[in-house]
Amino acid sequence: MIDHRKLGRELGIFHSDPRSGAGLPIWLPAGATARHAVEEYLRDLERCNGYQHVYSPPLGRRELFELSGHLDHFEDDMFPPMRVSEDDELLLRPALCPHHCLVYLARGRSYRELPLRVAEIGGMYRSERSGVLGGLSRVRAIHLNDSHIFCALADVGAEVASVLRLVDVAHAALGVRVSGLRLALRGPGEKYVGSDSSWDLAESLLREALGDRSYVEAPGEAAFYGPKIDIQVADAAGREWTLSTVQLDFDKPARFDLSYVDAGGARERPVLIHRSLVGSMERLFGYLIEAHEGAFPVWYAPLQLRVLPVSADAAAAASSFAAAAVEAGLRADVAVEGGSLGARVRDAAALRVPYVAVIGAREALSGEVALRERGGRELPPMPAADALRLITAAVTEGRGPC
Ligand SMILES: [Zn+2]
Repeated sequence: MIDHRKLGRELGIFHSDPRSGAGLPIWLPAGATARHAVEEYLRDLERCNGYQHVYSPPLGRRELFELSGHLDHFEDDMFPPMRVSEDDELLLRPALCPHHCLVYLARGRSYRELPLRVAEIGGMYRSERSGVLGGLSRVRAIHLNDSHIFCALADVGAEVASVLRLVDVAHAALGVRVSGLRLALRGPGEKYVGSDSSWDLAESLLREALGDRSYVEAPGEAAFYGPKIDIQVADAAGREWTLSTVQLDFDKPARFDLSYVDAGGARERPVLIHRSLVGSMERLFGYLIEAHEGAFPVWYAPLQLRVLPVSADAAAAASSFAAAAVEAGLRADVAVEGGSLGARVRDAAALRVPYVAVIGAREALSGEVALRERGGRELPPMPAADALRLITAAVTEGRGPC
């Protein structure tokens, strides 16, 4: 069975070191390169769909988390505060919402600006017990593909439907297979904030947004602040994880006293939607390494093309082909060392490189390359420019339109 912890190490994706601490993985160059491609993709997808990106710091004053309610409800999951002066304490944040509420409050808001979609792939920290930590799936330093959408209650249905559509688009591009959808609803009891009528409406809007997708209802599983849809995936061991989620929140808009001026000039309170298209970069990559057995789709493969000169007299042609590939926006290198051609082909296969270009004396003379696809298929020799076009097209097609 594939275990992302073992394969992630073999592929140079990430590293753990007891001196850095449990649950605090270090992303190595191959992992950082793939993650960078995925983050860039997510920002493009979000930008094309009306999201605005921000940067906010991973820590904030105690007052911020008192206001947000995190200290009331999540203190056990937070690291102890850092005292910076007699009357000032800083805390590592357990979520991005408090800062995104401050983005909303940075100026007065009108109904014309809504829905306001604030997005960030931001750092946050959870004080998980060391016994549950493992690889990338459960970590203490988390980088979440997060967004907070501020909108009128009437727009919740359309916003959630749009989020679900973007989840589908991102999953298709990344190669994520969903194992199930769960609609978490209110249960009996008094712990829920917000009026019964808002909950009824919100739950019915979520059902409507789910449309004819199949899902299970989970009464009593909602957060105290609102109902949510969790999108589950299964890892190689069959364990289910939530990657993507859409959550309604009636609580934080009241805590932060968020408002906007409606068309008639009256003050209204927006609803907050927390949503993540693919979850945290850590959990996502833990899943992707296992789901693809390390053979990532070409658009986010750390190395997309390895060029292999058959012998020394083709080395110059191999270098110039690799340089042209880099110029064309591809991630490419040349392997001259590493033994026989067969041994170097096997090394590239072990690293799951999607394309290998073999250049012998004949190809060097004719300006052609012989491409081999991951999996072993060999393409007939073709002009170097055609080979680059073929790989570039595979990248563009795999990434898909936004
Ligand atoms: Zn949030």
